Amino acid sequence: MRYSQLLLPTLKETPAEAEVISHRLMLRAGFMRKLTSGVYSYLPYGLAAIRRVEAIVREEMNRAGAQELMMPMVQPADLWRETGRYEKYGPELLRFHDRHNRESCLGPTHEEVITDIVRRELHSYRDLPINLYQIQTKFRDEIRPRFGLMRGREFIMKDAYSFDTDDAGAEVAYGKMFEAYKRVFKRCGLEFRAVQADSGAIGGNFSHEFMVLADTGEDTIVVCKDCEYAANMEKAEVKSSAAPSDVALADLEKIETPGKRKVDIVCDFMGITPDQLVKTMVYIADGQPVAVLVRGDREVEEVKLKNLIGAADVEMAEDKAVFDATGVPTGYLGPVGIPVRIFADQEVAAMRNFVVGANEKNYHMKNVNIGRDFEVEAVADLRQITTDDPCPACGGTLELTEGIEVGHIFKLGTGYSESMQALFQDSDGQEKPFVMGCYGIGVSRVVAAAIEQNHDENGIVFPVPLAPFQVTVLNLGGKDEAITQAAEKLYSDLQQVGIDVLLDDRDERPGSKFKDADLLGIPFRVTVGKSLTKNGVIEVRRRRDGFTEEISPEQVVELLQKRLNEELAP
Ligand code: ATP
Ligand code: MG
Repeated sequence: MRYSQLLLPTLKETPAEAEVISHRLMLRAGFMRKLTSGVYSYLPYGLAAIRRVEAIVREEMNRAGAQELMMPMVQPADLWRETGRYEKYGPELLRFHDRHNRESCLGPTHEEVITDIVRRELHSYRDLPINLYQIQTKFRDEIRPRFGLMRGREFIMKDAYSFDTDDAGAEVAYGKMFEAYKRVFKRCGLEFRAVQADSGAIGGNFSHEFMVLADTGEDTIVVCKDCEYAANMEKAEVKSSAAPSDVALADLEKIETPGKRKVDIVCDFMGITPDQLVKTMVYIADGQPVAVLVRGDREVEEVKLKNLIGAADVEMAEDKAVFDATGVPTGYLGPVGIPVRIFADQEVAAMRNFVVGANEKNYHMKNVNIGRDFEVEAVADLRQITTDDPCPACGGTLELTEGIEVGHIFKLGTGYSESMQALFQDSDGQEKPFVMGCYGIGVSRVVAAAIEQNHDENGIVFPVPLAPFQVTVLNLGGKDEAITQAAEKLYSDLQQVGIDVLLDDRDERPGSKFKDADLLGIPFRVTVGKSLTKNGVIEVRRRRDGFTEEISPEQVVELLQKRLNEELAP
């Protein structure tokens, strides 16, 4: 491609709308332009990067035996009513009426449509297993579209759906997708982890999110330094370590703690450490107050609480709500005799003779014990994991990092097929619902995540497999015909051997050609300029680390082939 003919509008200034680095660089490097909130036009350079990801995804899906199809974006509400999701989905589902006043929506995901296809077309166990996928534009009316392609309202997703006769088959399909996803993200040149996204409510370990590790992720994840373990902070399971203490129960005592409300202040005052105190935290779960007990130096993990009690919504109670529910002023709440359901973290259940608020202003209680002084409704893992906890898988050392979710795989079971009456005849003659799985990759988000992970102060540093062009040739000849001819020859020679090249043939100063080459992040830059006419050499520079070689024009093609292969080698 000739730069002079390409719609590639680079910007020197950083647009004010961009908050994260990938968004800034994608706007500056002419990837896309915003049409309206969360909705972008992909310009040629950005689209080329997206197409690279698509090609890798397509190859790996095909390799795993999935078949590509394409489903409509516009979907009838009645189909969504069959699964109850038309009502349940919430405002992310964009709903509208067509000219005949038929209710419709824009597809944010395609379980209903694919299940409809399969129930019409496939009827026998002999047709199974099957896995169908598409790469397609999705629409979700996100409450907070942001970070450019990272969280758009309109975005490109690969979604695949598997259909099997039984659980064992569905688990095989899941395993194949798990492997395919690992290959996709590895081939994209990304540093990533597969994290367990569900603690096993549907039995087994069949929901994983694929996270690209970056500084600006929206999720905090816990990874083990010693093994493959990785989990979302919210889901990371704390292994119960403490065996119940066999210390004798001491007599309950009320202690005056005037004005002492915060954990460390109470501890200082009483001469104890926070691991001898239990905090009573009140949450509003679906409108009802519940109390959660955690050790003084721990934090409640709301998602774990939510899952334990099966609430749709859980949030920390304001001081006033706590007072309304218990009659206790902030800072002095404890579990003894309060009229709310109490849940204890497993660590608390193993403690003896601990300190809590006395449910009275300026007082705490000492030597409190579960069972003797109050009862709890349940004991469970309810706290946030910390880097001091051992890895739940191997006992090794944990660290925290940010992650960008680029893929999600999920064993669905028969929920959709049952509600939509999608049945097949099994080998035993019985009619059974299909056992399903669904598997998504945020194709446009992958490009953003790749840039979050691969950039420097001068611009993007594309991993070779995702780069729209592998090489850029800068013609710095100006009026010098010999230089221009050499650049042109190199341009066509490189194309001859199948390398994607951008020839910078614009009438621009060398300085801005260098700047743009860096900004665009093309893996290799070839400079054809004065050193050719003076010394007979051309400069080849690797974007990633600035490694530079000067060689004669005849050697350039071979050298680039060698260097590109090195970059692609695992
Ligand atoms: P998130 O928690 O980020 O909203 P999700 O759980 O809603 O993601 P899925 O429904 O599992 O996402 O969709 C599959 C994939 O599509 C995600 O892993 C992500 O990579 C991508 N994706 C989801 N929402 C968006 C969006 N608004 N913009 C870009 N990509 C998205
Ligand atoms: Mg979402």
